[in-house]
Amino acid sequence: MSTKIWLSSPHMGGEELKYVHEAFSTNWIAPLGPNVNAFEDSLQTYLGENKEIAALSSGTAAIHLALIVLGVTSGDEVICQSFTFSASANPILYQGATPVFVDSELETWNICPKQLEIAINDRIKKGKKPKAIIAVHLYGMPYNVTKIKALSVKYDIPVIEDSAEALGSAVNGQKCGTFGDFGVFSFNGNKIITTSGGGALVCNDVATKQQAIFLATQARDEAPHYQHSKIGYNYRLSNVLAGIGRGQLEVLQDRIDKRRANFNYYKENLKDNNFQFLEAPEGYFSNRWLTCILTPSFEMREKIRVHLHTLGIESRPLWKPMHTQPIFMKYPRYVNGVSEKLFEIGLCLPSGSNTTENELDSVVGVLNGF
Ligand SMILES: *Cc1c(COP(=O)(O)O)cnc(C)c1O
Repeated sequence: MSTKIWLSSPHMGGEELKYVHEAFSTNWIAPLGPNVNAFEDSLQTYLGENKEIAALSSGTAAIHLALIVLGVTSGDEVICQSFTFSASANPILYQGATPVFVDSELETWNICPKQLEIAINDRIKKGKKPKAIIAVHLYGMPYNVTKIKALSVKYDIPVIEDSAEALGSAVNGQKCGTFGDFGVFSFNGNKIITTSGGGALVCNDVATKQQAIFLATQARDEAPHYQHSKIGYNYRLSNVLAGIGRGQLEVLQDRIDKRRANFNYYKENLKDNNFQFLEAPEGYFSNRWLTCILTPSFEMREKIRVHLHTLGIESRPLWKPMHTQPIFMKYPRYVNGVSEKLFEIGLCLPSGSNTTENELDSVVGVLNGF
């Protein structure tokens, strides 16, 4: 048995195999079936707000389909939060569109409303109104949903809400994933619940959901033969994997409670040290997918990370901003230094819901040695 302490590893609840067995015993081994429908229904009930859910093969696929449904195409511009995982931005390039990166605010570490408005106005002045805004609830902390929504309405630009890391997070009781014109979830192996690989697109109405599923199932026209008048994708979730998802949704609340307990444990036990934590603004509820600390300096961050690594403890620097990534460097950016600073001094700590108190204790022990 490995004694390695992981950043965020899969954590099965126990009922997943029951639904996987159902898929086998009924021979629904396909990217459709009863588990897919039931998984969508459970997620719909959980999120509320009269949303419609399309279960997909990944969160990346969900972002891609949202862009396609919004009509983003070659030559268009799409604003994207720079401080994120590359999967938020890659689908913009799949469409041949241009990403425009916008920096973060200190309050949530997510897209800065001020920089966003500067960016929108500047892009319009340069002759192109952005087609969409991709905002991200990074590490489970909601972005400023009120201000971003207001800008979206003011300039009439739809928002794709990347909630891949924020299932269970909320603002004033409303769940993340329900604020945008589209919401996106990921059920990859490292997320708060997992189907091993999977995702979901949250839509505002049935017609949009049907359009997304049409595109996700190879865009077959109504005909006895295979007839196509649009480019299609193979993006639907497998009925076997949806079975895992059904079991995982049953334990979601436990997973959220434990991740939040991890955060509180770190905060409480590191309080005599010089580390900073991101506090939730009033009314904001974070699922605390990963607990992150800000260290006093880049050198200190690296010393800690390397030392943890030698002890078999996985930690990771915060996301490297997209505007500093080799593949994205050449695109327009509106920056204020926040995300670069966070990347320089920030570290994600082991945060899995299956992390034991002993394991948390050994991480804390190392950190308090600095
Ligand atoms: C994980 C993640 C994605 C992509 O989800 P996949 O299911 O891995 O494709 C997108 N955005 C963010 C912020 C993520 O963390």
